[in-house]
Formats: sequence, C-alpha cells, structure tokens
Amino acid sequence: MAIARFKALELAQARTTPTVKIPTEKVAEYYGSLTFNEEVMRSLLSPETFLKVTTAIAHGARIDRETADEVAAAMKSWAISKGATHYTHWFQPLTGSTAEKHDAFFDIVPGTGKAIEKFKGSALVQQEPDASSFPNGGIRSTFEARGYTGWDPSSPAFIYENSAGTATLCIPSVFVSYTGEALDYKTPLLKSIELVDKAATSVMKEYFDRNVSRVTATLGPEQEYFLIDEALYNARPDLMMAGRTVFGHAPAKGQQLEDHYFGSIPPRINAFMADFELESMRLGIPVRTRHNEVAPAQFEVAPTFEEVNLACDHNALLMDLMQKVGARHKLKVLFHEKPFAGINGSGKHNNWSLSTDTGINLLGPSTKPKENLRFVSFLVNVMKAVHDHADLLRASIATAGNEHRLGANEAPPAIVSVFLGSEMNRVIDALENLPPLTEFRLEKGDNVYLKLGINKIPSLLLDNTDRNRTSPFAFTGNKFEFRAVGSSANSAAPMTVMNTIMAHQLFQFKRDVDALLDTDMKKELAIVEVLKGYIKASRSILFEGNGYSEDWVTEAAGRGLSNLKTTPEALAVYTRSEVAELFESYNIYSSTELHARYEIELEAYIKKVQIESRVIGDLAINHIVSTALKYQSTLVENVKGQKEIGIEERYYAPTVETIKRIAEYVSRIQTLVDEMTEARKEANNTEETTERAQLYGTKVKGYFEEIRYCVDKLELIVDDDEWPLAKYRELLLIR
Ligand code: ADP
Ligand code: MG
Repeated sequence: MAIARFKALELAQARTTPTVKIPTEKVAEYYGSLTFNEEVMRSLLSPETFLKVTTAIAHGARIDRETADEVAAAMKSWAISKGATHYTHWFQPLTGSTAEKHDAFFDIVPGTGKAIEKFKGSALVQQEPDASSFPNGGIRSTFEARGYTGWDPSSPAFIYENSAGTATLCIPSVFVSYTGEALDYKTPLLKSIELVDKAATSVMKEYFDRNVSRVTATLGPEQEYFLIDEALYNARPDLMMAGRTVFGHAPAKGQQLEDHYFGSIPPRINAFMADFELESMRLGIPVRTRHNEVAPAQFEVAPTFEEVNLACDHNALLMDLMQKVGARHKLKVLFHEKPFAGINGSGKHNNWSLSTDTGINLLGPSTKPKENLRFVSFLVNVMKAVHDHADLLRASIATAGNEHRLGANEAPPAIVSVFLGSEMNRVIDALENLPPLTEFRLEKGDNVYLKLGINKIPSLLLDNTDRNRTSPFAFTGNKFEFRAVGSSANSAAPMTVMNTIMAHQLFQFKRDVDALLDTDMKKELAIVEVLKGYIKASRSILFEGNGYSEDWVTEAAGRGLSNLKTTPEALAVYTRSEVAELFESYNIYSSTELHARYEIELEAYIKKVQIESRVIGDLAINHIVSTALKYQSTLVENVKGQKEIGIEERYYAPTVETIKRIAEYVSRIQTLVDEMTEARKEANNTEETTERAQLYGTKVKGYFEEIRYCVDKLELIVDDDEWPLAKYRELLLIR
C-alpha cells in the first residue's frame, strides 16, 4: 500500500479546528501595536527630532547622524519593551522572498565582560550583510561580496515574533551593492515613486490645482492563494520542490459547479484567516477582505490600499506571515501561480492609482465638469502609457510560474490590453470625435466643458463599470487593476514600471499641452486637443471583449499588439535599447542594473524549469513507473491464473488490454524521461544564458505535458490502494 499517502490522509482527516483568541479590545486598540509608528515616535522623540524624521519621511530628505542616534535609542527601548532581543535590516533581495540577518541588541563592554544593550544610529541607518548569497546578475565580482542595507524611514519598523516566542525588531531597508547598484526591489520602486510624484505634481499644479504639492502612487494588492493540509503537502514531493503539482488527474468534482466562490468559509480555514489577520493588524497591515475564490481550496485576502512602497512591504510581510501562521494550523499556503492543472491559477491584482496630498484620487470621476477634465486627462494618459509600454509591463510580470497562468484560458492573456467599460468608452469616443479644437471658437459666456462634452461624464462609475474579469489591465471605477501580476510576485517590480511609464507619459503630456498653450490656445482646449491625439494613437490597446477567447489572439495580432507568451521572450524586452534609455534617463535602473535584472530573472526561470524537470523525471520513474509495473505484474499473475483454471479468454481479455495499456504508458514515460534528460544536458552545456533559457522553455519543457498525460492515465488505471501520490480530490477537497 502507498503508506505515505494514506498516513497523510489519516492525519489530514483527523485535524481539529484550533481556537483563535480574538482580543476583546477594539481593533483600533491593537492595530499597528507592533509598529514604530508616528504615534510611538511622537511619544518617544524630542519634538525637534520628531519633526525632522516626519519631514524626512514626507520629502525623502536625509536624516542626520544625531537624529538617527536619537531615533535608534528610542527604537531600541521601544523594541525591548515589546520583548525584542534582536534587530535586523529587513529587505527584499531579488530572490523573491524577504531577508533578515539578526543581530543582538546586547554587546560586551570591552575589558569588563559586562553586557550592555546597544543599538546606535549608525546601525539603524546602515548595515553590511554578506551579499554573496543573494542574486546579483554578475554585478559583483566574488572578491567584493559586500552589500549595504540602508534604512527606509518611510516604512515603519516593526516587531516580528517567531514561533519560538522570541521577537526581532525589523527595519525595512534597501539593499545595494558595494558599488552602489540596487540588488533589491525597493530601491528602484522608491525612485519611481519620486519620479511619478514629480511628473504628476507638475501637471496638477500647472493645469488643475495650484494647491497640490505632492502626488502619491497607491496600491491595493488582492492576494490569491491555495491552502493545503500540511500532511498532504508533504506527501507531494512536487509541491514541496516545485511549488506546483506536476501530475494529477482532475477530480470528478472540480470547480465546474463554481460552488466554492464566495461560499461559506470552512471553519478550519476561517480560524487560520482570523489568526493571520489578527497578526497583520498588529503589524499595521490593513487586511480587510477575505473570501473563497473560484477553485476549491483557493482563497483571497485584500488589504485597504496604501502608499505603494508601504503596500509592497506589507504584501511581502503578509506573505511571510501567512506561511508562518499556516504552520501553526498545519496548513501550507501555496502562492504558486498554477499549483494545479485544470484548476484556476492565482494572481495578485495590483489596484493602482494616484492621489494628491489634498486628498484627490486622480483616477476618480467627479460631479464637477472641471474636475472631470482632470480625471479624463489622467485616465487617457494611463491608456497611452500602457499602449506605448505594453511589452515592458508584460516583462515586469514574467516568471516561470506566471507563464503557466497567463493565457491558460482562465487568466488574463499574455497580450496586454486595457479595459475601460462602456461608460468610459463613450466618453473617450466623444472626445476623439470632436472637431479640431484649433478652429474651435468660444463665444463670450460659452461653457467650455459643455461645448467639449466633458460635462456628460457620469459622476459615479463605481457601480456601473461593467466587470470584465478577463482583462489584464482594467479600469474599475476609480483605479486601474493590473490583473496579470502573478500571485507569488513582489509587486514592486510591476509597480516600478507602472510609475515610470506613467511619469514618462505625464512629462510628455506637459510638453504637448505647453506647446499648444504657446500658441495662445485656451488651456481646456489645449488639454482636450492633446488627449484626442493620445486616444487616436493608443486606441488599439482598448479591448472590451473576452480576453480568454481564441478570436482575441487573432484580433490582437491584427492590431499589431504583442503576444509574448513565454518568459524568455517577455524578459528579452529588458534588452531593448529604448527600454534601457527610458530607465536610464530617469535614473530608475542604470543599464548595468537592468542587465543584471534580466540575467537574474532568466537564471531564476532556468532553475525553476530545471527543478520541475528533475521532479517530473524522478517521480515518473521512482514513484509512478515502479508502482504501475507492480500493479501490472499482479494483473499478469491474475490472467495466468484465470487461464490455468480454464476460464474462457473473453473474460480476461479486457485485463490483458489493461496490461498492454500499462505497458504502453510505462514505455512512453521511460522514453520521454530519457529524452528529457538528454535535452537538459544539452541545455546545461549551453553557455549563453538567453539560449539556455530558450532551450529550457521550449525543448525541456516540451516534454512535460506528454509525460503528465501518460502518468495521469496510469492514475486512472492503477489500484487506488497502491497509488503513491495524494490525488487532486484529496489535496483540494479535504479541509
Ligand atoms: P474589487 O471589487 O476589485 O474587489 P475593492 O473595492 O474591494 O474592489 O478593491 C480592491 C482593492 O483595490 C482593495 O485593496 C482596495 O483598497 C483597492 N483600491 C481601492 N481604491 C484604490 C485606489 N484609489 N488606489 C489603489 N487601490 C485602491
Ligand atoms: Mg478586484
């Protein structure tokens, strides 16, 4: 009998729902209680230092040594009072997870042997972890393995507790090489935030509202994930090693009934959610929404949106936290984009917008015509930015995992398009069809907005924005939702691109409008004239239909839109000279940094496909083929026995057929695994990374589906008692 599988099943079925102690006090009492937030700073810092720090946070100014020392001292005593024994710079290297290197607060006074608690401003501001174990894309030569982490004061430090009951003060930080190149996700994101602030503020100030002095990019990431019982997870080597199942026949009951979506949440899952939400709240992560997703065992958590840097930190922390809390509940959280074939994959919908320090959401429509000119301006500029840089957006979300999801008939396609909804399409059409505004004469007393048709925008689009779930980039009433982002991604990568292309577009907008203003055109007319041109130029990106359909693939090709299906193809966008120029001109990525990222992403892709290929080979031969042959032998014995006692052939003929089918699948698997191993060897011997990635993506990966087909067929034939891998129905339906 397949012992491991049945042991796991027993364990999983015997689970009880742990009780979660929900605090009696109101959320406001414990929300953010583990963060070194403004309130804590106000109470612990001198008024001058407090002002210096908050100003530095608001304007990105440098914090001097003395201030840093005082903040460090306050942070230390606060952290110790919360039970922290260690501190660490907490950063996001390009591995995709978060990194920490803990140092104890205490130090030994030289010569005395006495311990004192120590944490200086210098340690707060900068640390020097050994960077050699993090990906660097060839930036750093091995003899210079140093890297620096630097405090990001705009994201509050927090206390992170671990299961052993100890706690660490975590200081959100950037991570750069000794030579100054960014080795993380946060550094370029911070630069892009500053850039889009500059571009959007100047547009606002000049054309719409003098009082605006700062524009912030906002992000609300909806996080999808699967939950699997820990014992069953451990009974699937593929889940453990590759994060996804490489084999498994679809269960009789999958998601066809769609009864899971928004259904009631099972008690055990609910306890897990309540538990991690509670911890999130204490860490100041504003988790707000929880629900079941379409697939069985799939769920979603969404926070209230925040400033994008904070939102990215919070999402990275949340993912870590969910795994930590999951361990307590004997649940494994799967963030892979496609853990199960034939079942919906997981995304991380990045809801993005821009908002001013005066409290205006720049992608929110208004009741006032004047404000709607502003709204339409920002909306059309997003559309133009996405049109002009669609390939770059595609590249920013390209990973081995997301490759399984994009275009898989249930996820946004690899083709980038923009959905606006019927109301906004009408507005856009009306604008585009206005006569040339250079000849437009305004009489005294004319209402320019009325004449331009801007007065007709419905003030509330929220309720009537039709929901198109198949669009990779959809306008949803007061924000854009970039849905093609993968569930395991660090949102900072696509958000850096989003902010940069939007800034680039807004600078252009400013130049174009100013050029018309120089001809003495009225401001409103000049703006609309420019927008008209943008709509014409970027109309091909608009698509309201079904993004999952085959017709769209054909139509998109006809429109000249890219369809970068594979990860290597998409990542190659980073090697285009115009992309390097764009990033370099705004100092977001130097060409060295950009190239490093390209290399790192390609290497990650190669490694992931390589691991999958090995897992497939090992499981197929050691688990599946061996089991199938054993079962086949019992059938052979059975047939021999039937013959011996004189049973008519017609009775055992079907069993003979089964024996043959097993032989056929087994031999096909053996041949294919051998060929795949050869293809891997060939790829491994290819020096050039781009070529190697292509070989992995086409040749090696090319074997996956057929091997899987044969294995899944065997799953239906072999005695259930003998099948070694936990089946889909067990993984997905037991909780
Ligand atoms: P949905 O119907 O897509 O679930 P929600 O209103 O629940 O819509 O919003 C989804 C996410 O979008 C939430 O995280 C929410 O905070 C976020 N969101 C709402 N407004 C904005 C905004 N202006 N900027 C960024 N994100 C936003
Ligand atoms: Mg949504």
